[in-house]
Amino acid sequence: MDKANSAQRYVNQAMHHAKLAGARLADKHVNLAVTGLSKSGKTAFITSLMNQLLEVNEDAELPFFSTKREGRIIGVKRSNQVDLSASRFAYEDAILGLSTEPPTWPQSTTGISQIRLVIRYKKKSGLSRWLSEDAKLTLDITDYPGEWLLDLPLLDMDFVQWCEYSSRQLINEQRAKLAAPIRAEIEAIDLNAKGDELLLQKTAESYAKYLKQCQQAGFQLLLPGRFLLPGELLGAPVLHFFPVSPEQLIAQNIDLAKLVKGSNAELLVKRFEYYKQHVVRPFYQQHFKRFDRQIILVDCLSALNNGLHSYQDLQAALQWIMQSFAYGSSNILKRLFKPKIDKLVFAASKADHVTPDQQVNLVKLLDSMLRDARKQLQFDGVVTESTLIAAIKASTSGKAQINGEFVPVLQGRTEDGLNLTLFPGEVPATCPKAEFWQKQGFAFPQFAAPLLKDQQALPHIRMDQVLDFMLADKLL
Ligand code: GDP
Repeated sequence: MDKANSAQRYVNQAMHHAKLAGARLADKHVNLAVTGLSKSGKTAFITSLMNQLLEVNEDAELPFFSTKREGRIIGVKRSNQVDLSASRFAYEDAILGLSTEPPTWPQSTTGISQIRLVIRYKKKSGLSRWLSEDAKLTLDITDYPGEWLLDLPLLDMDFVQWCEYSSRQLINEQRAKLAAPIRAEIEAIDLNAKGDELLLQKTAESYAKYLKQCQQAGFQLLLPGRFLLPGELLGAPVLHFFPVSPEQLIAQNIDLAKLVKGSNAELLVKRFEYYKQHVVRPFYQQHFKRFDRQIILVDCLSALNNGLHSYQDLQAALQWIMQSFAYGSSNILKRLFKPKIDKLVFAASKADHVTPDQQVNLVKLLDSMLRDARKQLQFDGVVTESTLIAAIKASTSGKAQINGEFVPVLQGRTEDGLNLTLFPGEVPATCPKAEFWQKQGFAFPQFAAPLLKDQQALPHIRMDQVLDFMLADKLL
């Protein structure tokens, strides 16, 4: 009898251990990062992603999210964030803004923020089904400005190389015109004179203003990234530097190996190096290296609206950004850490600004923008995908009769509350030739935010496909 009891006890203990091991096996974790240049739609995207997941078993429309379709999601909850140094993504504020008349778009990203969700689900099949009934996926979402990724190549430049690079950017006439005042301000500085912190601060502020003007004019490849979105570094001396023209460096005999001690030149070089070591590098080492999956949002339509220079600059900026994911070829990254991103999605955002018949072209346009960079770079073991999304759909599509013909149209509201019905235009599948831009441009509309009624999931385009690509394999 005793023997039978102890055998039973042994079996019970073994089952208990197996259950614990199963539960541990079943607990998975994904670090999902979302980025893109300013106003590409990151805040709207994360707001919608969270909303779709939190409403997954209520009224979220997610037919292409396989785990939901299979009825295996038990529930999704918010959980406490672990990294206490990063801001918390302001989801509640975003939802409040969308639920209050008149609804407002959420506040755009200005720095890094995070949020954690826990997804409880039923396992699909396999041995582990016997060990634990349900499983848990912890999803950490990080939002950060794409501008910060533009800084990676700086790690391989010294101050003089950066000055040369910045000067080459002025080949563009429009950009050179914008740069004229700040160039004059910098040229008036005696680089060998005793370091004047106040003068450098003022000039750096003018340089940041110039970058902002470039951004407003539609330029996108703007460095250093923290000058546009300084986050917690606003006003800090680490941002008080700027590039000098190579001509001025020669005229004032600036040699990096023989800088005059305590001079303006020495201060500029020191700050540039400090920025690289204490701002750019730590972002990669503290945050970037933890990311498992990455979404990069690209606002192709605003670039089309802004003109050829904007389109070309966006393409160039994407090439720079993609260096952060080119593990095979980039030794800068390899020197910093061992990256682990295995899935990368490029998504053309705000796709509710085009009629459904133009969506195919929008993805083709995005692909054509990325083609050169993809050719040059090797994504070792990273699965990449291009798609389009509207995180928060602010228009409805339909048909209207014009001159006896039915044409696709969009209906939405302008920011001033006017109802709008229009055919916003065709999306080119590749960048149109220069002559086209001279003759005509693009004018895709802006829509006001839609009103989110009580307990309602946000309307979207293809958020379910992104969820499926990013999470379904972790929810098996
Ligand atoms: P961020 O700077 O990348 O965080 O950009 P936001 O998410 O703040 O988006 C910038 C602006 O783009 C918003 O204020 C909206 O006007 C617009 N926007 C973003 N996502 C969408 C979308 O899915 N549909 C529409 N119609 N507009 C969007």
